[in-house]
Amino acid sequence: MNSCNNAPVDTPNVSIISEAICEQIVGRAEAFTAVEDVFAAMSRGDAYNFPVVREAIGHADALYGFKSGFDRAGMVLGVKSGGYWPGNVKKNLTNHQSTVILFDPDTGRLKSLVGGNYLTAVRTAASSAVSIAHLARSDAKVLGMVGAGHQSTFQLRAAVEQREFEKVIAWNPHPEYLPRLANVCEELGLPFQAVEREQLGAESDVIITITSAFEALLMKEWIKPGCHIACMGTDTIGKQEVDPTLLAEANVFTDEIAQSISIGEAQHAIKSGLIKETDITPIGQVINGDHAGRQNDQEITLFDGTGVGLQDLAVASVAADLAEKQNLAQQISL
Ligand code: NAD
Repeated sequence: MNSCNNAPVDTPNVSIISEAICEQIVGRAEAFTAVEDVFAAMSRGDAYNFPVVREAIGHADALYGFKSGFDRAGMVLGVKSGGYWPGNVKKNLTNHQSTVILFDPDTGRLKSLVGGNYLTAVRTAASSAVSIAHLARSDAKVLGMVGAGHQSTFQLRAAVEQREFEKVIAWNPHPEYLPRLANVCEELGLPFQAVEREQLGAESDVIITITSAFEALLMKEWIKPGCHIACMGTDTIGKQEVDPTLLAEANVFTDEIAQSISIGEAQHAIKSGLIKETDITPIGQVINGDHAGRQNDQEITLFDGTGVGLQDLAVASVAADLAEKQNLAQQISL
């Protein structure tokens, strides 16, 4: 008998989950749990990010790459592929474009294709929200936002669910974007005020930075004791949002140390010898109860949220599971 006749029939169903379906079914609560769980799994050594590839493709000024990983605890294997196309705005498209591809970890077969644009925003917001939940003072009342771009409203909405904030203050290098944040605050019934950076530092109990800055926007001496700062914008070599001496003063946490010291906010404090790699704690240790987190009410805590592929895979897996359960996934056979 020809061995081909004994070959297994290989016609797997592949589910396709569109951007619109992701927005419909993955909320902030689902993203928070998925991201918190995967940070915990990373810290236990149950989940690994593989080396990131990010290249200028020499066309359309685009940066293209992939972030990949395996979560043995959640049994999620896959890759997020995409990047940044600066000319997209003129075509009425988002500059950041990505798609998540999930594979069956037992067989390697393609399982799902999931739109990654909305999920990137919701998982990034979940990351800072997890840091606020575990590290901010429980009596935090004033939220300071630095940045008012695409990600900022996702960050704001997720953050205000973590503490009983009474006021939001904000600064952005392009003040014309600030109404974005003001509108969300109005919708949420929270007072909003545009302020100068020094005032933002003096008043905020929690600060989120989410800009594309390449220089320190916040100085150490402006920051109120006891503040928690989530630095979310720095995800590439050269980007920077805060004074590196702030990291020397603060209790520093991150999603992944390897990224924090190379492409995250900590790259500058590390390069100038202000802190060592061992001064940075993976937030998963706090989630797992292996590290106490904040030591006292006066300490400044800083979360360097660099954005890891496993976050993308975690929320994409939630999207795929929910879409399949609710019959919202398009199924094709390959
Ligand atoms: P966006 O282009 O919509 O907004 C950019 C923001 O940065 C705006 O507030 C803008 O006013 C400000 N800005 C632009 N140029 C600046 C400069 N030279 N100096 C200071 N501020 C400047 O971008 P976005 O989608 O909101 O993303 C914001 C940042 O977050 C980017 O750096 C992006 O790469 C990063 N990001 C990080 C993660 C993560 O997981 N950590 C995920 C997604 C995006």
